Amino acid sequence: MEKKTSQFKAEIAEMLDLVVNSLYSKKEIFLRELISNASDAIDKAKFRALTDKTLIADNPDWKIEIAVDTSAKTLMVSDNGIGMDAEELENNLGTIASSGTKAFRKALQSEKNADLPELIGQFGVGFYAAFMVADKVRVVSKKRGGSGAFQWESDMQGGYTVGDSDRDGYGTSVMIRLKDDQTEFLDRWRVADLVKKYSDFIAYPVRFRRVDAPAGEKEEDRRRREEDEAKPLNTMVALWKRPKKDVKKEEYSEFYKHLSRDWKEPLETIPFSGEGAVEFKALLFLPSEAGMEIYMPQTKHGLSLYVRNVFIGDDFEMLLPEYLRFVKGVVDSSDLPLNVSREMLQDDVVIAKIKSAVTGKILSTLEDLKKKNADGYRKFWDSFGAVLKEGLRTDHANADRIKQLLLYPSARSEAGRLVSLGEYVKAMAPGQADIYYLCAPKVETARTSPHLEQALRHKCDVLLFCDPVDEWLVDSLGEFEGKKFSDVARGDVQFGTETEREAEKTANEKNAAELKPLMDAIGKQLEDDVSEVRLSTRLADSPACLVAAAGGFSPAMERMLRAMNKSAPKVKRILELNGSHPLVAKMKGLEGDALKDAVDLLYAQALVAEGSPVPDPARFGRLLVSLMMK
Ligand code: ADP
Repeated sequence: MEKKTSQFKAEIAEMLDLVVNSLYSKKEIFLRELISNASDAIDKAKFRALTDKTLIADNPDWKIEIAVDTSAKTLMVSDNGIGMDAEELENNLGTIASSGTKAFRKALQSEKNADLPELIGQFGVGFYAAFMVADKVRVVSKKRGGSGAFQWESDMQGGYTVGDSDRDGYGTSVMIRLKDDQTEFLDRWRVADLVKKYSDFIAYPVRFRRVDAPAGEKEEDRRRREEDEAKPLNTMVALWKRPKKDVKKEEYSEFYKHLSRDWKEPLETIPFSGEGAVEFKALLFLPSEAGMEIYMPQTKHGLSLYVRNVFIGDDFEMLLPEYLRFVKGVVDSSDLPLNVSREMLQDDVVIAKIKSAVTGKILSTLEDLKKKNADGYRKFWDSFGAVLKEGLRTDHANADRIKQLLLYPSARSEAGRLVSLGEYVKAMAPGQADIYYLCAPKVETARTSPHLEQALRHKCDVLLFCDPVDEWLVDSLGEFEGKKFSDVARGDVQFGTETEREAEKTANEKNAAELKPLMDAIGKQLEDDVSEVRLSTRLADSPACLVAAAGGFSPAMERMLRAMNKSAPKVKRILELNGSHPLVAKMKGLEGDALKDAVDLLYAQALVAEGSPVPDPARFGRLLVSLMMK
């Protein structure tokens, strides 16, 4: 093919500039990225060879080599993996999905500078890290199953060229000409340290070779050097196969970072093995924070699957239930056939058993964390609680365990604190039968809601369901320790003892007779908005509130349906008046326009108090102003 020069797309040029110029520390990670790419390329070759033996007709001895030439100031990372043809060089190294660039820029803005280099790998731009230390990069590659070798070359500023090339065997070499101030990477000990630090678990030998002999090297020294260079720099033992006691915390941590492309330490590391019916080894991690899935919802999820040391894939979502999609890790089983396909795995019994064991292990880890390390669990919950909750709907077998893991803000607990259902039940008021909850769009509005008044007066706590999914999950919650969940903003909730309720009823009946004309007038004026006006048993300090009928839609559900673009039916709710509130007594004496305005204000106030929008804000504003003038 003819040699072709192209410019980087604008967003790549911008990103390269960011990568190279705003990242000043830890340039060393470029080596980790190139070694990871080389190892991925060998994984891919082995995997494809499972179905096409001709790809490995050269009978390769899988390996990765780092060759340095100190006089030319070059470092080259080579592999004998799958390789790339001209089109792949162009597509893989000349473009990035622009979503990746956008996400990268967003992450750059939100991260401290010191963390920046660690971001690179997460956005499919690992290869470009080479430009942190290089003034020129050349990639020469020969694809297994393809014809001929090709090269890609760039000095960054001048775009890149793709053209024909030569290469002895199949695979890829990435040659870097180091910048004048980056020659430390020519040093064998420096390179060896980096391989140990970042890539020790890589499954293929990584060797160092010096291309140019040191000046004045004696025959004897050369022999010793070559002997030395024949030894791999990495131990290559799959971490999940080593006994936990023999693995250092940092090794787990580096492996996690390699696997997840996260740059923070994992919150929990979970090595375990399945025995009995299905034998497998697994190494799982809980991330400490929600990661790039926030920026990139299309991120693949799942565990990496190995079968007898062969890497099969890293997006086998069938190994994990969807609601545990934040878990990262590796599963290695010898009970699966090597030529597994997605379709086969979909309903494979071995996979089903692994999935169930993995799920159980993760739940028990979370239970332990919650018991022994409340702060750690809280951290987990803040990042992944909303995802875990989905399990209530989808994993009936484990629903009871998931319920124990839930945390909610509550009306009686201080701001910022969350309570579990177990803690709630333990602290229930004498005589309280149900678990009370209130749905609201925000914790702050929920806390001041009039719906809470009677509950609080009776020393009953109320869970505040402020995550949009909470209300949908009420049905799935069913019961907890034999107790029903009861909405304090619904028609049928009652507080206090039998006698208290009787006394309240008598007082209300007396009030009702007196207030009947007022209630009728309100009912008539608001007939398009409310289905009924009645006296309340739940208010203490507020004059009025709106409640849903026992079986009807709540405002939160209505909001959610609207948000999902479903035409939500307009729900008329019940307006409850506080018969002993001075405002209500005052309204008894009003008539004409004064009464009309007061009713509109009262209704608007009830909406505002629960965090709902008022139907006619302009009129509400005017009424409020004229009231203030009086
Ligand atoms: P990532 O590895 O995160 O996808 P990179 O920028 O590091 O992003 O690499 C881009 C793509 O280039 C890879 O996905 C892969 O397809 C290809 N690639 C990179 N290095 C090699 C290699 N040594 N052998 C084969 N393909 C490679």
